Amino acid sequence: MASNLTNYHSHSLYCDGHAPIKDFLDEAVRQGFTSYGVSPHAPLPWTTRWSMMELELPVFLYEMKRLKEEYKDRLEVYCGLEIDYIDSDINPQAGLFKNDALDYKIGSVHLIHNQAGRLVDIDLNVEKFRKEVDKSFGGDVEYVIDKYFQVETSMVETGGFDIVGHMDKISFNVESYCHGMTSSSFYTDKVERLLGLAVSKGYIIEVNTKAYARQGTTFIGQPHYHLLKEMGAKVVVNSDSHFPSLINSGRMEALHNLKKAGINEVMELHSGKWCSVAISCD
Ligand SMILES: [Zn+2]
Ligand SMILES: [Zn+2]
Repeated sequence: MASNLTNYHSHSLYCDGHAPIKDFLDEAVRQGFTSYGVSPHAPLPWTTRWSMMELELPVFLYEMKRLKEEYKDRLEVYCGLEIDYIDSDINPQAGLFKNDALDYKIGSVHLIHNQAGRLVDIDLNVEKFRKEVDKSFGGDVEYVIDKYFQVETSMVETGGFDIVGHMDKISFNVESYCHGMTSSSFYTDKVERLLGLAVSKGYIIEVNTKAYARQGTTFIGQPHYHLLKEMGAKVVVNSDSHFPSLINSGRMEALHNLKKAGINEVMELHSGKWCSVAISCD
């Protein structure tokens, strides 16, 4: 249990992942993981290319029940969802997600409304983000940042989930759009306020390592690790893996960097409960 080989943010063919759940679990067993959670993008009231359909939710829950049984001697398997906060009606508190079969929920923001009230996907690569800011937000990147943190704040205030997913995921794209922005007090004050609120409400804060190998960045970003320490945040390190081969991508580096920032423990699920486990890597 001291290896920190865990991951609770993982996609599959139920959403935009690239392999069946079983392939992720087999890879977790192969790499010696102790505990693994699967978290497809939860259904939205409309169809997207990246989220599960509502009629698939009971199928997913049934498959997870079966897989927990199948792997019980090799791996602790947990059933989660990554749920979008859109507005006061569509969010992790929705009745659809109040289901005892779910071990935990991740709250995330991928979509925000533009100035005209149109919902825009901002969870994009650098090139597409730049085009979308120019096309859908009139080039007003400060509006995008403001809105993103407003929506994250509403999500944290509304609740219905356990883990705040990839808290400042717009950071890399924003920095590429406007160099110096993410080190400005305009940006860092927003991260600090949001993090303070989330910690005060007892959420687990995700350090998401999906982009670490390509961009050297985690979400929440490394410049904010000292805040995690100062605020006494509960931290989970997740790879947000869409491919079985990437279930541990960037995790050991993030654990190492967290330790350098004075954080000695991370949250892991063991025997059905979140517990604080010492970071054992150097
Ligand atoms: Zn996400
Ligand atoms: Zn994800």
